[in-house]
Amino acid sequence: MTRPTPAPAHAQAAGDATPPALRLTGVSLRLGDDQQQVTALDQVDLTAGAGRFLAVTGPSGSGKSSLLAVAGGLQTPTGGTVHVAGVDLTTLKEHQRTAHRRRHIGYVFQHANLMASLTAREQLLLPAHVAGRLDSTTRRRADELLEAVGMTGRADRRPHQLSGGERQRVGLARALVLAPDILLVDEPTSALDRARARDIVELLAEQTRVHHTATVMVTHDTEILDAADHVLTLRDGRLT
Ligand code: ADP
Ligand code: MG
Repeated sequence: MTRPTPAPAHAQAAGDATPPALRLTGVSLRLGDDQQQVTALDQVDLTAGAGRFLAVTGPSGSGKSSLLAVAGGLQTPTGGTVHVAGVDLTTLKEHQRTAHRRRHIGYVFQHANLMASLTAREQLLLPAHVAGRLDSTTRRRADELLEAVGMTGRADRRPHQLSGGERQRVGLARALVLAPDILLVDEPTSALDRARARDIVELLAEQTRVHHTATVMVTHDTEILDAADHVLTLRDGRLT
């Protein structure tokens, strides 16, 4: 099978008029109440361009999930700006932010966040249905992705009939169906065995290349970092 030509490594070079897919500037996030404040993110700058697979690693509690939640517009930062396809999410109203997020971002939650009543295949078709893009091409792509994550034989099962790892793989496939510009992935291998973890990060790397996705994966699994183009480290909310 021939594969499309990969995007050039620096498709978003300086001087290019196209803004990077994702750019966080001076992002801070303070959580908790007045009694106990936690600085989850501390002045984070991060840029993710099309066709690049970026990994962010760091110990538990270092701010990895917070970083993704802010990048994906699920959480509003206390300070700084989050540009998605050139638009600052922090300036948008809630419904505008939701629309912009749906248009540009695929999000893979660590614990999948599947709909209890839907089968695995239906989970993959739902975002396309919501976006009004449920056609035969999308259905075929959904089935190909179920196959790629090893779930073809369980496509008609509902979440309670799946293991944690299987749910995780469905959640990942779901985020890939519409080939988003930006893919945000939280600990995709936390419930997987080594061989499956390898398959999954290689799928992420391939999809990044083929669809020119700007992929940001956060993980504490250091064995999968080699699949990324670039690795950054978070420590106490600071990116190095
Ligand atoms: P990671 O994903 O790297 O494990 P998180 O982003 O989940 O880290 O958390 C970063 C820090 O923020 C941790 O110290 C965590 O305890 C704290 N934190 C996360 N969510 C909340 C919350 N809702 N309220 C208060 N503190 C929180
Ligand atoms: Mg986390």
